[in-house]
Amino acid sequence: MFNEAPDRHLIRRTAVIGSGIAGPTAEILLKEQGQSVTVFEKSRAPGGRLAAKRVPGSSADIGAQYFTARNPAFPDFLTRYAGDDSFTTWPGRLVFQHRDGRREPFPEEERYVGTPRFDRVVVTAPPAQAGDLMQASGLEEVAARLEQSISALAPCWAVAAHFSQPLDPGFDGIRCQHPVLYWAANNSSKPGREDSGQWWVLHGNAEWTTAHLDASRSRWVRSW
Ligand SMILES: Cc1cc2nc3c(=O)[nH]c(=O)nc-3n(C[C@H](O)[C@H](O)[C@H](O)COP(=O)(O)OP(=O)(O)OC[C@H]3O[C@@H](n4cnc5c(N)ncnc54)[C@H](O)[C@@H]3O)c2cc1C
Repeated sequence: MFNEAPDRHLIRRTAVIGSGIAGPTAEILLKEQGQSVTVFEKSRAPGGRLAAKRVPGSSADIGAQYFTARNPAFPDFLTRYAGDDSFTTWPGRLVFQHRDGRREPFPEEERYVGTPRFDRVVVTAPPAQAGDLMQASGLEEVAARLEQSISALAPCWAVAAHFSQPLDPGFDGIRCQHPVLYWAANNSSKPGREDSGQWWVLHGNAEWTTAHLDASRSRWVRSW
């Protein structure tokens, strides 16, 4: 399935771009070879052209309408990695329409669809975003329970500043005593982040950030 590079044994970490059906399949197969794999997806959710869209009260398959399993290994693969309750047969009455309007049934064959349901949902979003998600899902009580966690969080403005001439203040990271800054770090001193010039990351302290939460980005950058 993969083109095998001669130095394959040296590869330990793989980035997979895209989380349709091919991406997670590659992830599974590479993990079986002992690789560490990270899948990157540009859309909000995985699925690609097999994805379903949420519609009020349900979900709609907007891409591929069903799948067949002509290779008997495929249902075993799905059962093993996705669980046998993740797909089921679709007994839909499918017909071809001829030009003269006559209809003919599709050939007899098992057709499968995914079964979109979860037994449990784990939300790992920060409390404020998790609260919004709960509100939007009609779970106001759960959202209310997050309020204490939301109020305990302090905001932090962050800036990445590029210097064409490298600076050498005698440190690569500092926890500051400063009216604005809490932390400054030479990002380019971290392994694998070397670049022309130098990038510094500046974190505002909680008090200053809170007081300037709604400041425009350009005004905030100028004031530093
Ligand atoms: C309307 C429709 C009907 C179809 N019907 C059938 C059918 O009946 N039978 C059949 O066999 N096939 C059908 N297909 C095709 C089938 O859905 C696709 O062949 C299959 O889903 C492709 O899977 P994939 O993982 O290769 O690619 P995709 O599903 O396209 O996945 C690629 C993923 O990469 C992501 N991506 C793209 N660029 C980036 C980037 N720069 N960084 C990170 N992520 C990125 C995309 O967002 C996407 O999630 C249909 C497709 C459509 C749209």
